[in-house]
Amino acid sequence: MKITDIRTAEIKGHGYSTYVRIYTDEGLIGNGECIHGGEGCPAMVHALSRFIIGESPLNVDMLFEKMRRGRLFDGAMAGATVTAMTGIEIALWDLAGKALGVPVYQLLGGKFRDTVRLYCDSHAGKDFSPEAYATRAKEVVALGFDALKFDVDETQAGYRNDRWSWHASAAEVDWMVERVAAVRDAVGPEIDLAIDMHGRYDIASGIAVARAMEPFRLLWLEEPVPPENVAAMREVKRVARVPLCAGENLYLRWGFRDLLEQQAVDYIMPDIPKCGGLSECRKIANMAEVYYIPLAPHNVCGPLGTMASAHVCATIPNFLVMEWHWIDYPGWDDLTIQDQPVIQNGHVVLTDKPGIGLEVNDEVARRYVRPGTAYFGDHV
Ligand SMILES: [Mg+2]
Repeated sequence: MKITDIRTAEIKGHGYSTYVRIYTDEGLIGNGECIHGGEGCPAMVHALSRFIIGESPLNVDMLFEKMRRGRLFDGAMAGATVTAMTGIEIALWDLAGKALGVPVYQLLGGKFRDTVRLYCDSHAGKDFSPEAYATRAKEVVALGFDALKFDVDETQAGYRNDRWSWHASAAEVDWMVERVAAVRDAVGPEIDLAIDMHGRYDIASGIAVARAMEPFRLLWLEEPVPPENVAAMREVKRVARVPLCAGENLYLRWGFRDLLEQQAVDYIMPDIPKCGGLSECRKIANMAEVYYIPLAPHNVCGPLGTMASAHVCATIPNFLVMEWHWIDYPGWDDLTIQDQPVIQNGHVVLTDKPGIGLEVNDEVARRYVRPGTAYFGDHV
């Protein structure tokens, strides 16, 4: 079997995802989704096709390495080039699974679990009162989730007197504490609760918030300081008794190396459909396991990228929980065709269908294509 063509479609979701479709001379087609590659991502995918066309889709790791080495001088160490490679890699796994008649998790070594636990990124909406946070938390738990995340870096709170300098005053820390207390009070101690600061604050603020969060027994505090400086993250971890999680903007194994070696966080959160794909994230997970650090993958993808990520989560022992970001989008999994709902009772349920296990619903997905762009090569 040989790869004959690669096409893309930009589909609106959390921003735009790039869907990648790979065609073969035997008529089999593989689909992948990558995210946060920016407007240039489809062009990068097409530019990478010269490394792929004519090759067997079964040699996934070799083809990924061929792209990575071929593009080292063009951004393949980190960033959008890696994301474009990732979309191709995920489509290759879908294709390889279909060609061999097995689910992707089987090709990745087999599964430790049949379902993949999700945490719901919950947003409180436009009302930033503690009561609104508490109400939303109860709604999400009623949907079957036993792990939630809320943001506390809200500019709407009115504490930003300088749009560039993110320093949390004592009053802002108190504002955060009130909302986290309201959520913890609403859901009780048995629900896991993560809090995100989006890596925006200075180190004094990160430490102040981390210390203030200690009574709430958080699942984690996410990126209390920017993630680029591992020593700063480690300093927050050293002085505050709250678990830390970071890494949603890191790429490939090398991007996670310092964070792991310095044990600057308690959990890492690679974005699987962005930072290198399924095989690479299994390798990142294996590295993390050496340091007794579980994976809590970042995920804002549609159902295709979410299910692809779930295949990785199923095949590693050190999996904690994966993000789901679509609470406010009813009909989320209409973007794909599947035998059963992708999410059941707060978990992704894996199927034993070959490949990723679901197909793009072209009729629905086409409605969300970026205006002025083609849907899988309508233009070629
Ligand atoms: Mg985050």
